Amino acid sequence: MSRVMITGGAGFIGSHLCERFLADGDEVICVDNFITGNPDNIAALLPEQRFSFIHQDVTQYIYVKGPLDAILHFASPASPVDYLELPIQTLKVGSLGTHKALGLAKEKGARFLLASTSEVYGDPLVHPQNEEYWGNVNPIGPRGVYDEAKRFAEALTMAYHRAHGIPTRIVRIFNTFGPRMRTNDGRVVPNFIMQALRGEDVTVYGDGKQTRSFCYVSDLVEGIVRLLHSDYDGPVNLGNPGEMTVLDFARTILRLTRSQSRIVHRPLPVDDPKVRQPDIRLARKLLGWEPKMDVEEGLRVTIEYFRGRL
Ligand code: NAD
Ligand code: UDP
Repeated sequence: MSRVMITGGAGFIGSHLCERFLADGDEVICVDNFITGNPDNIAALLPEQRFSFIHQDVTQYIYVKGPLDAILHFASPASPVDYLELPIQTLKVGSLGTHKALGLAKEKGARFLLASTSEVYGDPLVHPQNEEYWGNVNPIGPRGVYDEAKRFAEALTMAYHRAHGIPTRIVRIFNTFGPRMRTNDGRVVPNFIMQALRGEDVTVYGDGKQTRSFCYVSDLVEGIVRLLHSDYDGPVNLGNPGEMTVLDFARTILRLTRSQSRIVHRPLPVDDPKVRQPDIRLARKLLGWEPKMDVEEGLRVTIEYFRGRL
């Protein structure tokens, strides 16, 4: 049995990770300040003896009693709408929060896993994106608060690895969806599904020709667990290479929800990446991992979850 700390554990991905480590027989300490998370996400876990919760902002000194085998640092606003509303908090959790979590890993001799993002590639000039690509990020644009915080977090993680010998893992997560996303977090999956279910206009930003590649959360969680248990210290992409345009994604949601909603166009956000698709050859080779869940099947499960939240 391991003792695992998950920052951002009351968020969408974090709560699925808490559940997975508990199911694997580990002890889980979840740390969250609910800035974009939700107590409901972990309510079912609270009675579990091997689960504990610390309500804390991880940009402040983190105190945890007893040993820790692993720290998974997932705390950060993740939706563009959230991080545009919370620019300073986003920069602080990526920088100060990562520093505190790494300091704790050093103190406890724990393995450290950073939740990084495909946003480190910015508006990519290499397609699909592989881990060797350094990216094309606008540091002073509105998205820079997230992109640069995550790039700094990666740099700090590698510095702790090199200077202090901490075993590190960096997962570059590509658009992931599933139950427990907030209905109003502003990301394309909850937006389109909620709009379709409510019979409201489905808001495609720009001409909708920009692409994304969507991964179901259970596949991501499996990849993260395998990465944590691997011995590879550098960044690894995890995502589903199935790429589609945002316009096709809107049509898919309308079909799956049997909605009569109209598709309307709204202005494209500043610096919105034009393409995004993970190159997952490294994950395949290192971890024997690739997504298993059919994306439409994952969307059906997610639609039912959102229907229940209406
Ligand atoms: P989320 O907003 O649901 O979860 C983030 C959690 O972090 C929330 O519970 C929030 O309250 C918590 N948090 C934020 N700042 C904090 C702080 N200072 N102290 C304590 N807790 C704090 O988002 P998510 O989609 O679950 O994303 C989780 C992680 O994965 C993030 O680090 C995000 O950058 C990364 N990621 C997610 C995706 C995706 O597609 N979902 C893609 C790339 C990267
Ligand atoms: N998008 C959209 N309509 C919406 C929300 C998002 O067309 O209501 C687009 C957005 O401009 C982007 C893509 O969908 O091109 C994915 O956006 P999301 O906010 O999910 O995350 P991103 O991949 O940009 O980080």
